[in-house]
Amino acid sequence: MSEKRTEIGDLGEFGLIDHLSEKIEVKNPSSLRGIGDDAAVIEAGDHVKVVTTDLLLEGVHFDLSYAPLPHVGFKAVAVNVSDVAAMNAIPKQITVSIALSNRFSVEAVDALYSGIRAACEHYGVDLIGGDTTASRSGLVISVTAIGEAKKEQVSYRNGAKVNDILCATGDLGAALVGLQILEREKQVFLANPDMKPDLDKYPVVTGRQLRPDARMDIIHELKEAGIVPTSMMDISDGLASEIFHICKASNVGATIYEDKLPIDKQTFDTAVELNMDPITCVLNGGEDYELLFTIDQKDFAKLEKHPDIHFIGHMTKPEEGKFLVTKSGTAVPLKAQGWKHF
Ligand SMILES: [Mg+2]
Repeated sequence: MSEKRTEIGDLGEFGLIDHLSEKIEVKNPSSLRGIGDDAAVIEAGDHVKVVTTDLLLEGVHFDLSYAPLPHVGFKAVAVNVSDVAAMNAIPKQITVSIALSNRFSVEAVDALYSGIRAACEHYGVDLIGGDTTASRSGLVISVTAIGEAKKEQVSYRNGAKVNDILCATGDLGAALVGLQILEREKQVFLANPDMKPDLDKYPVVTGRQLRPDARMDIIHELKEAGIVPTSMMDISDGLASEIFHICKASNVGATIYEDKLPIDKQTFDTAVELNMDPITCVLNGGEDYELLFTIDQKDFAKLEKHPDIHFIGHMTKPEEGKFLVTKSGTAVPLKAQGWKHF
């Protein structure tokens, strides 16, 4: 009799996380939140610590044929800081572990760490430890970030209420469009090494893909405005997919409006040039590392004039479902098609 074999691809990344976490029990009272949010939350005296970790693999998460090592180092830190931000917490420390093949020189590792140090400086975090080991194939980077918050100021995914306003920061879709440009120029270069990659034309989209910035500025501004988002997460897998996460965790529905979705002009124009639908890029492109959060309606006036916070919709009763209202006024069901690594 043959044993049953289930392909990981059949579960998908989120299905795999659900499958593994089913059997995990949290027993210590100080473990306030385990798997299932942007970061874990741990009681620590009069405040809480948040902890998050990310694993980045060469060939899966970054391609060194076009990603400069300092950018890879910066991004490895930024994506973790983004998950700390998503809890409405302030990052304080990171650990960095790397696995390297002998393809990498000391100079290459120095270049990687120059980006890691730049990110530590930028976000005000201390690098306090890590591990290095040999790798059979390429570069692997694992970063863990630790942040702090007041217990009552942590924003979880499950706090959104009916009629809360759904907000997104910055602009979306740039990282996916940037990735397509980088891949296109790589193919041009592979076909004809004399051709110089044409990247200067696309600084916004390639910059977002190669060196995204976590939105700690927004976290500080929310604090100054005296606002605690009722729910929050960062947009790493795509807007639609993140909206599904908040709706599921909070047991609410959502309606968003196409004409409120934030897209940069260069992202829009480049998507059109690549024959991609710009709105699909905004809804399903990943890796922008902007913030998605909900606020109580009473807080709207405090943020109304913020130039970089966009009010893209509102939360509804769960039975009302998840909809996108197009520019022509038609409500179409929202589909979550995030980033799939498996
Ligand atoms: Mg996240």
